[in-house]
Amino acid sequence: MLFSELGLGPDVLRAIEDKGYTQPTPIQEQAIPCVLQRRDVLGCAQTGTGKTASFTLPMIDILASGRARARMPRSLILEPTRELAAQVSESFETYGKHHKLSMALLIGGETFTEQVKKLDRGVDVLIATPGRLIDLFERGNIMLNDIKVFVIDEADRMLDMGFIPDIERIVSKLPKNRQTLFFSATMPPEIRRLADAFLNEPVEISVDPPASPAETVTQAMVLVQEMDKRRALRHLLQTEDVKNAFIFCNRKRDIAELQKSLERHGFNVGSLHGDMVQSKRTETLERFKQGEISLLVCSDVAARGIDVQGLSHVFNYDVPLTPDDYVHRIGRTGRAGKQGRAFMLATPDDTKLVGAIARLIKREIPMIAIDGLESAEFGEEDSSRRRGRGGRGGKPEARGRAPREAAPREERAPREERPVREERPARDERPIREERAAVREERPAREERPMRDERPAREERQPRESLAAAESRRNADPRRDRDRDRRRRRDEDEDDVPVIGFGDHMPAFMLRSARPRPAAGSTTEAPQEG
Ligand code: AMP
Repeated sequence: MLFSELGLGPDVLRAIEDKGYTQPTPIQEQAIPCVLQRRDVLGCAQTGTGKTASFTLPMIDILASGRARARMPRSLILEPTRELAAQVSESFETYGKHHKLSMALLIGGETFTEQVKKLDRGVDVLIATPGRLIDLFERGNIMLNDIKVFVIDEADRMLDMGFIPDIERIVSKLPKNRQTLFFSATMPPEIRRLADAFLNEPVEISVDPPASPAETVTQAMVLVQEMDKRRALRHLLQTEDVKNAFIFCNRKRDIAELQKSLERHGFNVGSLHGDMVQSKRTETLERFKQGEISLLVCSDVAARGIDVQGLSHVFNYDVPLTPDDYVHRIGRTGRAGKQGRAFMLATPDDTKLVGAIARLIKREIPMIAIDGLESAEFGEEDSSRRRGRGGRGGKPEARGRAPREAAPREERAPREERPVREERPARDERPIREERAAVREERPAREERPMRDERPAREERQPRESLAAAESRRNADPRRDRDRDRRRRRDEDEDDVPVIGFGDHMPAFMLRSARPRPAAGSTTEAPQEG
């Protein structure tokens, strides 16, 4: 099929031609005619399928006639992250270059002034993250009763990030007589319920089985001990032909540590996560896209929808806590028909998470081994799958390369037993009132708190434990192993830091004698605390 057969106007077709697209993708083929007929659409499609153009192209045509009034945008697109919102606005600029549509991007982390000025002038297309939109609405800067086309993109991600109450609130301010386009990569029951509530007799389009990873991504996994993860990653970075890569971590604090470690080993590396100020996030992503940085250690803020042309690799430094995230992370590579490679480092603690991923993608991730690393085995739920030097199949099938055939699939324990530590969105993207947010800011980020959920409640523990029993319980505690591993890993890295010696010269501060303490009861002034 050709774009010209979809019913789009000549100016949009010209922009598509300028962009170099020759054929619509399946979602575009199905969605564009329905959107042009002003039908509601429920689209189940992953990023990388051309989903953005499937709604932006017909919207440009629809909005081409008519004019926006001050503070009353004519269309609204909600995106879960600032990066995605910025990306959609780039699409509007590309495809709408032969039109004179006005657009405003309302995202957190940037000053209100410019955004308000744009709204005052009147906008045809408003692209926003839910938190900032609500802020501006509450300040009286926007009226939503002229919205003709409303788009919810990445609905399942919105659910993960806790945005659904905000979205329900936004929808309650929209006119009933509107067109709604609702996209989600997966369709869990909660999302289906929302779609039923927001959409009016929608056309349902599904272009890929939900959450199936693109065929263009070659996947592999290395089973390692926690302490060996950095070494394994470096090995992969050195043996793979890495042009540019995302390296995903589950916890923000690990991102900084890993970035420093890779820098020490001479890699050209940056980082991206939700706690960074927006200007830094935008700048880092731009430098990565321009090739100034080749590796980006990141949180799941980079997992969805971020479109870096020709990303060669994705590394899951940590096994993602939900299998959907695995699909989204690896979906950053192998896009637009290009080949990509995705590697995951799994530890014996990750047995259940790996099992959940295998069930979701309906296949095993092939395992490879790296020589010189301590052997590792999956836990009991999956003892039949062993790798590493001591385990079955310890010999690498192709060192550093993923084998073609996947191992047979076995049953795994459900992942629900594992506490889920979602990445918390940046404050302005969170659906919480400011005063509550302030209280939360004082608490350590959720993923940095000790894993209380795994510990029995105080009253459930043995009331009186012998010292020997307590010691043996502590020894058996996997957290203890993890802490030890972390210490060893830190030591490993610290070995790389050059040591500065004093030589023959003893610095003066080391020679200064300690000040004598005042005697008890002495009346001399005690040093002031604080
Ligand atoms: P999306 O799923 O919207 O994130 O799009 C993924 C990538 O596919 C983006 O880089 C688009 O520029 C590209 N793309 C979208 N539509 C087409 C098309 N019809 N032909 C070729 N590439 C496309």
